Amino acid sequence: MSVKNNIRNIAIIAHVDHGKTTLVDELLKQSGTFKAHEQVAERAMDSNDIEKERGITILAKNTAVDYEGTRINILDTPGHADFGGEVERILKMVDGVLLVVDAFEGCMPQTRFVLKKAMEQKLRPVVVVNKIDRPAARPQEVVDEVVDLLIDLGADEDQLDFPVVYASALNGTSSNEPDLDKQAPTMIPVFTSIIDHVPAPVANDDEPLQFQVTMLDYNEYLGRIGVGRVFRGKVRRGDSVAIIKRDGSHRNIRISKMFGFLGLKRLEIEEASAGELIAIAGVDDIMVGETICPQDHLDQMTPVRIDEPTLQMT
Ligand code: GDP
Repeated sequence: MSVKNNIRNIAIIAHVDHGKTTLVDELLKQSGTFKAHEQVAERAMDSNDIEKERGITILAKNTAVDYEGTRINILDTPGHADFGGEVERILKMVDGVLLVVDAFEGCMPQTRFVLKKAMEQKLRPVVVVNKIDRPAARPQEVVDEVVDLLIDLGADEDQLDFPVVYASALNGTSSNEPDLDKQAPTMIPVFTSIIDHVPAPVANDDEPLQFQVTMLDYNEYLGRIGVGRVFRGKVRRGDSVAIIKRDGSHRNIRISKMFGFLGLKRLEIEEASAGELIAIAGVDDIMVGETICPQDHLDQMTPVRIDEPTLQMT
């Protein structure tokens, strides 16, 4: 087993309007993932209506930022209870959660719903108390509310021992202290809290490949794209592998295109190993819940249990 210290996989949780899009945009800008003259053209977390209409939307947008040599993959979580299955699948791909809470409004129902699922998965939160610039902000009370909520949701001691960053995503400032005058024009406290408190993936590259499809994406040039986590082993472009369908049948396929994430873009990659979140294109009928593995290891795969995808719309 090796610790992949240069990777962190997190899901972002927030009640609507508490600022997760603004925060992710700011992380993208400040990590240098965008050059100064580039604009965040498409907002990071806005979902695509066409994909939604096709009923195969990933219901989540993947973003990745590089900070001092560490790749931080950030997965959005839908907050609505109709998307329970999606939330669970997303949480299975990550090793921690970034909880964004409005410094005035505090914890809200959508926060609770997703956070409950995160607690069940034994994920530890990093808490960002956002909108600290609001005149009526009450950051310390809001942190107390988060503690109460976590206790109520059955959090263990480890999960209650969370780091807090106080931020104004709007102004691009943050600090580990609740006082407004301690805000500094940087997101470094957010980056370092994620890197220090979210466990790096622990995985074995030498084991047989196990890639689990947890979400679908669609692109008019590439067709259907399976997004997921390499749980074990390694995969290279051109590999001949097998796909295990949801009904237990399988067939052989070749990996023709693979992508990693950086910023809001997908980057074509040649190889990926355990712990990485990647996208695989070229398998026309790829479905959520399917497993990609070596052709000679079919009977040794215990798929990571993934619920039926639901296709309800809000
Ligand atoms: P999301 O629904 O969680 O993605 O929220 P958005 O990022 O879209 O933000 C919702 C609203 O809150 C927008 O009008 C933002 O400009 C505003 N907002 C986001 N962050 C801050 C902040 O730090 N301070 C203030 N005052 N407003 C913010």
